Amino acid sequence: MTHRTIAIIGGGPAGLFAARLIKLNQPDADVTVYERNGQDTATFGFGVGLTESTMSNIDRADPAAAERIRNVSRAGHDLKLRDDAGDIVLHGARNLAIGRAELLVELNALALDAGVRIEYGTRIGVDDLDADVIVAADGVRSATRARFADQLGVRETLGRGRYMWCGIDFAVDSAFFAARTRGDALFVTHAYPYTEDRSTFLLEADDETFETAGLAAFDAATPVGESDTASLDLLSEVFSDDLKQRPLLANRSRWARFSTIGLDRWSTGNVVLLGDAAHTAHYTLGSGTKLALEDAIALADGLAGHADVADAFAAYEAARRPSVDRFKLLAGRSQRWWESYRLRHAQPAELIAMSYMTRAGNLTVADFAAHEPTTAATALRSLGAEPPTEPSELDDWILSRAATFTPEQVTYRLTWTEPDVWGAAADDAVASIPSGGVVEVSGPDDTTSVGARIDFAERLRLTGHARSIVVLPNSFRSQAAAAIATGRTDAVIFEA
Ligand SMILES: Cc1cc2nc3c(=O)[nH]c(=O)nc-3n(C[C@H](O)[C@H](O)[C@H](O)COP(=O)(O)OP(=O)(O)OC[C@H]3O[C@@H](n4cnc5c(N)ncnc54)[C@H](O)[C@@H]3O)c2cc1C
Repeated sequence: MTHRTIAIIGGGPAGLFAARLIKLNQPDADVTVYERNGQDTATFGFGVGLTESTMSNIDRADPAAAERIRNVSRAGHDLKLRDDAGDIVLHGARNLAIGRAELLVELNALALDAGVRIEYGTRIGVDDLDADVIVAADGVRSATRARFADQLGVRETLGRGRYMWCGIDFAVDSAFFAARTRGDALFVTHAYPYTEDRSTFLLEADDETFETAGLAAFDAATPVGESDTASLDLLSEVFSDDLKQRPLLANRSRWARFSTIGLDRWSTGNVVLLGDAAHTAHYTLGSGTKLALEDAIALADGLAGHADVADAFAAYEAARRPSVDRFKLLAGRSQRWWESYRLRHAQPAELIAMSYMTRAGNLTVADFAAHEPTTAATALRSLGAEPPTEPSELDDWILSRAATFTPEQVTYRLTWTEPDVWGAAADDAVASIPSGGVVEVSGPDDTTSVGARIDFAERLRLTGHARSIVVLPNSFRSQAAAAIATGRTDAVIFEA
């Protein structure tokens, strides 16, 4: 099944891996990657994480590539919450970490081995190309996506908080996150080792921090493309203990708001998008490179199995949509958890740990307790009694400890479905709820809506606006228990 000429815009993980797999599947095809940066130009970004499930997928599609990637990866590490009182383990060794630059070196070599032509230092647009298939792997700022915005149905939202991607020149002992304050400014780091002598040191600041610490002025004075050295100096000081007095390493590092991209369709005519060009998911779930590489596998399969380009693109999208949508849902909840971190900062560290692990709705309290029983037990004692030691008994025990309210005590009832519980619609809804009462939040039974109303209830509680009851389907008992245990809601009611 050969498509004669295949042009790929972008030599990031998505473009290079797609090029290799397409060429391996269709040796007679002419496959060319165009990358605007030179081959030796240092790429942006430091280390990224890859899950074992992604590595298994790569292994199945291309064992040689999986082996090369593993050879330059750093094996899994514990994840800890670093608190003034000490470290709390959140989960044990999982995932691989790999330098973005190292990954690209391997993918470049693998693409060349397969017979792909790569033209570095070539910025190109769809209108410059004449090919049977054009693959747009041109990243989060995709010009191809902008060019076909109407046909693709583009949605973009900017995160509320800001982040900056930095590095350090030593391997931290384990991955960790830590929050450090300077007056009213609150900075959070997510750090993880990815080589013997390098770690990613990702930083976050909310709007209040940005204002208080005067970062807007620094940012405005720094030309595009350069690192924000003034912020880096400040952050090196704020995190000096975590950094062991070493300086932060920068690579085009400056504050940005995370851009969440969604498209109604991933292709139009003979043009198909993949990786960050087609969708993004918040980095706190560590999934962008994973999604990019898995897209490449599905696109190569689609093209190999269908002579008709539209059929090939439809097969690719059908294969990838469900898991991309699931990741976007989890990542959205994770993003909003981090963006509202300031309101949790004063909570006991064990409670923050359990809240973090259950924030996206894909892990239960029992999952957490099975791996970290001591931390889970300490957090659960906030419910006023000694929890059972058997993880499978925890959901029932937690639900039995929840508050109960009579219908007469409920002061306000609303239906809530919007996932962005800190957005303008949520602001309006909260403004119309009298403060100090008990609010019952109900809505549809799908996973997105259930997560949205748990998060809305949490907003009411975290801001001290009202107590809350969330109405949930019976099938969401574990999410209900996690919501009670982590203080997201006071009570739940199960629908029949
Ligand atoms: C702070 C942060 C932390 C992250 N951490 C993780 C993590 O831990 N794990 C993880 O899996 N992911 C992580 N990611 C996400 C990851 O970096 C991206 O999702 C991934 O790089 C997407 O790959 P891509 O190939 O689609 O796009 P990119 O890597 O952006 O590659 C696009 C390429 O296209 C090129 N290009 C663009 N336009 C043109 C043009 N007109 N002509 C030629 N070339 C062009 C660019 O130069 C670039 O090389 C993180 C992202 C951020 C911002």
